[in-house]
Amino acid sequence: MCAAPAKASVAWKMRSPRRSRLYRLPQWSKGLDQAVRTVPEPTLVRSNYTISSLVTAANVSTETIAAISTPPGRGGIGIVRLSGPQAASVAAQLVRLRQPLEHARARLADVLDEGCDEDAGRIDEALVTWFAAPNSYTAEDLVEIAAHGSPMVLDLLLRRALELGARLAEPGEFTQRAFLAGKLDLTQAEAVRDLIEAQTLTQARQAASQMGGALSLRVQPVKQSLVELIALLEAGIDFAEDDIDVAPQAEIARRIERLMPPLAALEASYARGRIVHDGLTLAIVGRPNAGKSSLFNQLVQRDRAIVTATPGTTRDTVTERISLDGIPLELVDTAGLREGLEEVEQLGIARSREALADAALVLVVLDATQALNDEERGLLDAVLGRPALIAANKSDLAEARQPASEIAGIPALATSALTGEGIPALREKILALATGGAAAEPGMLTSLRHHQAITAALAALADAAGANLSAIPHEMILLDLYRALTALDSLTGQTTSDDILNLIFSTFCIGK
Ligand code: GDP
Repeated sequence: MCAAPAKASVAWKMRSPRRSRLYRLPQWSKGLDQAVRTVPEPTLVRSNYTISSLVTAANVSTETIAAISTPPGRGGIGIVRLSGPQAASVAAQLVRLRQPLEHARARLADVLDEGCDEDAGRIDEALVTWFAAPNSYTAEDLVEIAAHGSPMVLDLLLRRALELGARLAEPGEFTQRAFLAGKLDLTQAEAVRDLIEAQTLTQARQAASQMGGALSLRVQPVKQSLVELIALLEAGIDFAEDDIDVAPQAEIARRIERLMPPLAALEASYARGRIVHDGLTLAIVGRPNAGKSSLFNQLVQRDRAIVTATPGTTRDTVTERISLDGIPLELVDTAGLREGLEEVEQLGIARSREALADAALVLVVLDATQALNDEERGLLDAVLGRPALIAANKSDLAEARQPASEIAGIPALATSALTGEGIPALREKILALATGGAAAEPGMLTSLRHHQAITAALAALADAAGANLSAIPHEMILLDLYRALTALDSLTGQTTSDDILNLIFSTFCIGK
C-alpha cells in the first residue's frame, strides 16, 4: 500500500487500465499552468476537461500573414506588418535593404516603384525592423516596414507582399498568434483590443492593467486552490478501497468555502468595470424651457446644443459623449416632453421618449420657479424606480424654491445652468448613480464574457458545496469542481473553443 498523498505532493489519477497508477505533478509549486499542462490528457476524460494549449500546439502556423497595421488614410508614417516563417525573406524581396536585417534593429530600405529591380525608381524610403522568433509580439518571425503614411505606398507594399506568398491577415490575427503561442492569455489579448478602443484615459489604464495580467493574477490563486482540492478528492477516490479518508466532509466544505469570496468579489467588481468599459447613457428630460440644453452644455462644457428662450426649440435629440471621472457617459438632450403641436416637434418628442426608454440613467430637469405640472408628475412616476436624479434648475432666480432632498421619491438637487451653481454636485451625483458607489479596483471584470465565466464558476462551486453537504459521492462533487475549473480556464483561454476564439479575435482591427 502506498501512503496517502501529503498536501505538498499532490497526485492525479490516470484513467488507465491499471486503476491505482498515480501520476505526480512535477514542479507543483512553480506555476499552476505549467503543472496543469503537464497532466496527461487521459486524466481529464471524466470531466470533459480539455486544455486548448494541447490542441493549439498542433496549430502552429506555417503561413506568413501581412497587413497594414496603421489606420486607413494618410499619415506621417504607415506600417505594413508581416508575421510567419517567411516574414524576413518576403521583406527582403519587398524593399531594397541598405543593410542586412538584424533582430530588433531598424534598417533603412528603399521602396522601389516597380518590383526590386535595381533600375527602378525609388518611390519611398522605409525603416524595416525584424524581430526574430520567438522574441516578437507573435513569437514568430515578425517584420515591420514603416514607410510614409501614403495609402498608395502602403497598398503597393501589401500587394507585393501577397504576390510574394504572404496571406492577408484576418482581424486580430497577429494577437491571436501571440495568444496561441502562449505569449498572452485570453484576458490579456482582449485587453490589447480594449486599449486600442479606449476612449478615456481610465479605460486605457484599465486595459493596460489587464494587459499586464491583473485579472489573471486575481484568478490564479483561486484556481490553484481549486486544483489542489480536485487533486485531493481524486486521490481520495483512489484510496477509498484502503479505507483511508483523505478528505473529510468538513475539510472539503472549508476548502470550497474559501474559494468563493475572491470570486464573489470579482463578480461584484463588474458593476464598476462594466460601465468603465461600456459607458452609460444619460437622458436629460423635462418640460420645454426648464433648462435641459443649458444643463447639457454645462455638463459638456461646450456649446453643443442650441439654446433659445422659445419653448420646444430643441427639436431632436442631441447627443454628446463626455468622460465623467473616466466613465464614458453619453448625454442625450431630448426635446421637451409635451404634447407638441407641430409635426417636427412631435417627431422630436417621439425620439425623446425612445431616448428615455433606452437610457441607463435619467436626469429630470425641473424649473424651480414653477410648480410641478401634470406632465412632470407623469414623467416622475414613469422614472420612479429607475436610476434617476432631479435637477431643480434656475436656482439663481429669486422666485426659485429650494428643492427637498427628494421629489416624488427621486433624489433632487438645486442647480443653475446659468451660474454653474450645483453643477459639480450634479456631476458627483451622476457619477455615484452610474457606479452604484462601486469603486475602481485592479483586475476588475470589464467584459460580459469574463463575468459569465466567474458566475458559472461560482454556481458550480455552490453545487459542489451542496453536494458535499448531502454526502454525495466524491465522484459527483468532482464533476462540479471540474465545471468550476473549466469556467475559470475559459477566462484565460485554456479551455476556450475555437469558435469563441474566432469570435473574440474577429472584433480586433486588421493588423493587430
Ligand atoms: P430647454 O428647452 O429645457 O432645453 O431649455 P434651455 O436650456 O433652452 O433654456 C431655456 C431658457 O432658460 C434659456 O433662455 C436659458 O438661458 C434659460 N435658463 C436655462 N437654465 C437657466 C438657469 O439655471 N437660470 C436662469 N436664470 N435661466 C436659465
